[in-house]
Amino acid sequence: MTPIEPYQYTIRNTVSCRGIGLHTGSMVNLTIKPGPANSGIRFVRSDITSRPDIAANFEQVVDTQLATTIGEGSTTISTTEHLMAALQGAGIDNALIEVDSHEVPIMDGSAGPFVHLLKKGGRKQQKALRKIIRITKPIEFVDGDKTIRIEPYDGFKVTGYIDFDGGIISKQSYSVDVTSERFVKEIARARTFGFVEQVEHLWANGLALGGTLDNVIAIHWDRRSVLNESGLRFDDEFIRHKVLDLIGDLALMGCPVQGHVIANRSGHALHLGLMKKIVATPEAWEFVGFKKRGQSIIQQTIKNTKKAAKQHFGPLLPKNQSSGPALPPSSPCVA
Ligand SMILES: [Zn+2]
Repeated sequence: MTPIEPYQYTIRNTVSCRGIGLHTGSMVNLTIKPGPANSGIRFVRSDITSRPDIAANFEQVVDTQLATTIGEGSTTISTTEHLMAALQGAGIDNALIEVDSHEVPIMDGSAGPFVHLLKKGGRKQQKALRKIIRITKPIEFVDGDKTIRIEPYDGFKVTGYIDFDGGIISKQSYSVDVTSERFVKEIARARTFGFVEQVEHLWANGLALGGTLDNVIAIHWDRRSVLNESGLRFDDEFIRHKVLDLIGDLALMGCPVQGHVIANRSGHALHLGLMKKIVATPEAWEFVGFKKRGQSIIQQTIKNTKKAAKQHFGPLLPKNQSSGPALPPSSPCVA
């Protein structure tokens, strides 16, 4: 296990990149700027005159088909998961992300290019201390044969399983204690994937117009090989990418989660289901803050977790407990 760091971080310098939007097929400019302490990750639509912004928070999720889409009113931004995973992997709590389209560029289909970008920007420690959600009892969300659960764990760990009928994917599993080093080495470069006929179906429906072999692994009709000439980056690239998606979606909790997530055949909808279930089960977790004591910093359970939960997750708590004020649109875990 690796303990969660006590301080909040932002990016040191503004960085930008440019890439194709998976759905529209047109170019998208993305800029990551430093964000003040306790502001969380926020997306700004720089192509709209009023520059509306959307908090990177699961309560803002408006669609989970194909990718995770967050929205506020009529403004949306989709495919947030690979960038959110890179931010989580880099340990960035606060940042302002400007995008001049309704989707984050797909880059090479992985989080690798975003990891490079964040490294280029550098990381800056902020004065504010983090607040984390510590899971104390297992919480499970089930949808048919798909399950996802989170259990108590001293760190943040993700274990994923997939099971496709035979072929190149077949049964794969991957388990990782999520640290920046392991994220970069083992997870970040795993690319998104799809079956050739699925991709063709999307094209026929005017979707995934930017999808090419440069940004998606296309699995051959015979199920035994991929169309990409360079092959796979890892033998088990598929499950590694599923783990990447999970890390990116769970980052929408808005603060670090201390627990072990175990996902079987999960996807964006299941990840959202788990986050909602966590918030609806306040007896199975607690908020933990950090406190300076002399030279060291200690973890400290926030005494009245129920009260803190009411303040932060008010609208989503079970009805009989939800009398707190509405959740502010920023990070739910601000101190
Ligand atoms: Zn993905």
